[in-house]
Amino acid sequence: MNTTFDWYYFFGYYLMKLFSINQNWIILIGSGVVLVSFLLLSNEKNREPVFIDLDKCDACNLCSYDCPYEAIDMLMKDGKRKAILSLEKCVGCTICIGSCDEHAISHPLFPQYNFEQSNKVDMTVFSCSYFPQHEFPRELNVQEYKVPCLGSVMAKDVQKILDNNSEKIAFLGCEDCYYRLGKTWAINRFLRKRAPLFSKKI
Ligand code: SF4
Ligand code: SF4
Repeated sequence: MNTTFDWYYFFGYYLMKLFSINQNWIILIGSGVVLVSFLLLSNEKNREPVFIDLDKCDACNLCSYDCPYEAIDMLMKDGKRKAILSLEKCVGCTICIGSCDEHAISHPLFPQYNFEQSNKVDMTVFSCSYFPQHEFPRELNVQEYKVPCLGSVMAKDVQKILDNNSEKIAFLGCEDCYYRLGKTWAINRFLRKRAPLFSKKI
């Protein structure tokens, strides 16, 4: 009969050879604490929550469908259905901002767009704040807006920029969305598969 020996036990036996039982317990518990702290510190809760202006909310439900963290519930408030935010669950991804055609949701990291017609450029670029450092060709006159997540770009705003500022727009986003669904929702809205839909002109 062959007795097999799993390789990962070698590590434990080697430590037992080097250190006393008490020291081994300290190493075991210490590495557990380091691992748990790392997981807690590296989770996605790294931004402050969004703010929802309930006076502007018309209870369309879209933000509650789109939030990847189930942080918005449609509940009764002062006799009306409203989008109510759970501060504990919200990670500040801002994806819900792109869901809201009423501009009811805001976040301090969201840029101010310049819709002035005097601000004409060759191209307007929306780049995800997690997208790596990049440069544009010098001959191209570009207005770049760094957005907290591509999912936060509103269809209405893109239309306004196309009407006033530039005929071309571009989105720069990461291969894997840091907040899971931002890129997917942005693409689906562009393709008119998910509300709020982008204009047919885009
Ligand atoms: S997307 Fe805007 S209008 Fe619709 S429920 Fe959410 S906050 Fe209200
Ligand atoms: S910011 Fe992100 S996590 Fe917070 S409510 Fe909006 S979609 Fe949900």
